[in-house]
Amino acid sequence: MREAREGPGRAKLVEPPAELHPDVLTALARLGVERLYSHQTSAVHSAWAGPTIITTGTASGKSMCFNLPTLDVLCRDARAKALYLYPTKALARDQARALAAFGLTKRVRPAIYDGDTPREARAEIRRSANVLLTNPDMLHMGILPNHAAWADLFANLAVVVIDEAHVYRGVFGSHVANVLRRLRRIAAAYGTEPRFLLTSATIANPVELAERLTGLEDVQLIDEDGSPALARRIAVWNPPLTDEPSGARRSALAEAAELLARLVRDGARTICFMNSRKGVELLTRLAKQDLEGTHPELAELVVPYRAGYTSQQRRDLEGRLTRGELRAVITTDALELGIDIGDLDAALVVTFPGTVSSLRQMWGRAGRSSIDRSGRGLAMYVAGEDALDQFFCRHPEDFLDRPVEAAILDHESPLIFRQHLLCAGHEGPLSGQDAEFLGPRWEAHAELLVSAGELRRRPAEDHPLGRHDQENGRASRGSGPSTYVLRRPGGYPAADVSLRSASPESVAIVDVVSGELLGSTEAARAHSTVHEGAIYLHLGRSYEVRELDLLRRRALVAPFDGDWYTQPKRQTDTAIVRLLDRRETLGVTLSFGEVNATDTVLAYQRKRVSDHSQVDLVALDLPPTSFPTQALWFELPIGDREYRTRRAGSEELAEAVPLEVLLGALHATEHAQIAVLPLIAMCDRWDIGGLSTNFHPQTGSPTIFLYDAHPGGIGIARTAFARFEELCEDARRLIAECPCSSGCPSCVQSPKCGNLNEPLSKAGALLLLERMLSAPREPATTAPISVAAPL
Ligand SMILES: [Zn+2]
Ligand SMILES: [Zn+2]
Repeated sequence: MREAREGPGRAKLVEPPAELHPDVLTALARLGVERLYSHQTSAVHSAWAGPTIITTGTASGKSMCFNLPTLDVLCRDARAKALYLYPTKALARDQARALAAFGLTKRVRPAIYDGDTPREARAEIRRSANVLLTNPDMLHMGILPNHAAWADLFANLAVVVIDEAHVYRGVFGSHVANVLRRLRRIAAAYGTEPRFLLTSATIANPVELAERLTGLEDVQLIDEDGSPALARRIAVWNPPLTDEPSGARRSALAEAAELLARLVRDGARTICFMNSRKGVELLTRLAKQDLEGTHPELAELVVPYRAGYTSQQRRDLEGRLTRGELRAVITTDALELGIDIGDLDAALVVTFPGTVSSLRQMWGRAGRSSIDRSGRGLAMYVAGEDALDQFFCRHPEDFLDRPVEAAILDHESPLIFRQHLLCAGHEGPLSGQDAEFLGPRWEAHAELLVSAGELRRRPAEDHPLGRHDQENGRASRGSGPSTYVLRRPGGYPAADVSLRSASPESVAIVDVVSGELLGSTEAARAHSTVHEGAIYLHLGRSYEVRELDLLRRRALVAPFDGDWYTQPKRQTDTAIVRLLDRRETLGVTLSFGEVNATDTVLAYQRKRVSDHSQVDLVALDLPPTSFPTQALWFELPIGDREYRTRRAGSEELAEAVPLEVLLGALHATEHAQIAVLPLIAMCDRWDIGGLSTNFHPQTGSPTIFLYDAHPGGIGIARTAFARFEELCEDARRLIAECPCSSGCPSCVQSPKCGNLNEPLSKAGALLLLERMLSAPREPATTAPISVAAPL
């Protein structure tokens, strides 16, 4: 057990800005808010000056930072409107309540507009609301394509609030970045330029995230937290080893159940997070069993909270927890995003939740908003056997002292960008002025869409949205060579674009029992994730795939209770299409570029959940799939005499790793790098593909590829290319520090290996990485963003 303490710290309190509208100041006084935390006042001043992102801690009153300047605008200008974007409906409801609490009913009329808003209420909302709370999907699909119906909103749009912006990363973030550019473009067409205010959890690159999401420059950062730090004890618990050579440990679930029961007996109100629904159920059962022996009355006060409850059931549970009628709630991350459930004594996180950022948010539940500052919260983490769990457990201070993960996205990821170019074309013809919103390369993409028969070029004319260049007092006639319009004017391209999928070609996942559409998966990934017999996880629940219908693009699944999971066996090939950047470092040639990844799913393995033992191997007959993406690859100077004599350090590399273990060493190195890459680029290991080979036909050398597993790429490989040295150092530490003898799931084995973890050489990988890290390094000269994304 490793422990640390946080806080308590003093609050920095200041007067609310006197320039705020008197009604807002009165409302604050009515709420009992006499003074603000210093960061809230700084945020108000910053919001008045320009686009701003706020990244202070959990429960530091971030909403006040964007609500005050927004309310100020609405009180000054009766016509002004604000748009609030939330990733979930529950958060939008929570914020609508917070706005209503100001009691400015004459001036401020918030309304939620999402998929649940009844049709008959929609026209009234368009007419009367001046704060519209919605989500990116609704903005993309319902509001922007119908901007004419929302003319009043766009013509008076003063503020756009993007709360929880760190959620918009990866594929989803790349889409949302395009939706926000379309929003700015439409607002400009109606003559407005709204102020963007964002908040984010602590991440390594908040300003970069805000700028890449909105396309704006010079976003100001507010990160000096003036709220009082709560006293909190942090504890990290690694279950003991039961078998050193195999790296096996006592189960995190069993350990967590004992801890939870102890906390409940001690009277602590506790929230416990687990990443799967099945885990939630199992943990609840184990903790109840533990309590029933000694305190049966307490066992009743431990309940699971999971997706699938109605909103009424959720509110009941939240209410009982807040009032102290429950002792412990066990949940997936449903509560993670900040809905207020009051004071809790302890937050227990079981297995790594994917990012340090979300771990901190979960921990933030303990002791939050406690009135009695002397009451200490306990924030605890119980490690699982996964590589990231174990890595984190060995170096908590490395991760907790500084924000480690960068949220990445790429709005110009070609497939995503072109889908939104069509949506933008539907919203209004594309013209030369659109470079301001869509970026300098939009026209090249538009030309490709012309060749594909999706867009049509037509001679320049007045912008049909009525936009003109006011500053220079001239209309846009003749200002650009041509405009682009949809070839099929009656189409509705937004309907074909899902913000959660990189490619428009997707496979629908349908629950045959309930008839419900669970979601969709990119066609390129369908063969490996929803092949016949696959166990598919959705919102923490398991389903078994009954049929993958490739013609009708759907997978039929049914709820599953068995005790196995599946792992596909695949043959992967990567063909280098275009080199974009290259450098020599760590004794290897490191390249970044476009590749074509081809995958053939050959079979799948069924494995027991309890001990990962193999049940059987089932053959599949599926055609190969391929998709274009971005990759980094590095060539090792082994088996190439001429190369060796040219490069310093390479001689030792070749001697260090004998040819007979080379393939296993390369393979284990690839796995270790994929395991730790999410610490550098906020993603999941499932977002990354890899290939290691002792001879690649295009490089002529032993080569390791790491690529974005989403068609077109979303910036993961690009980030890894720029921070390659760090990636190698983390991978080396991961392997070197694992106590197992020849590789285990905590170091070099991968739960998603297409070769079913054969061959792997832990010792070979360690030698390889150690030699690389002792060779001269030549850091990246280009920042990851400055590598242009060519077509
Ligand atoms: Zn190991
Ligand atoms: Zn593998």
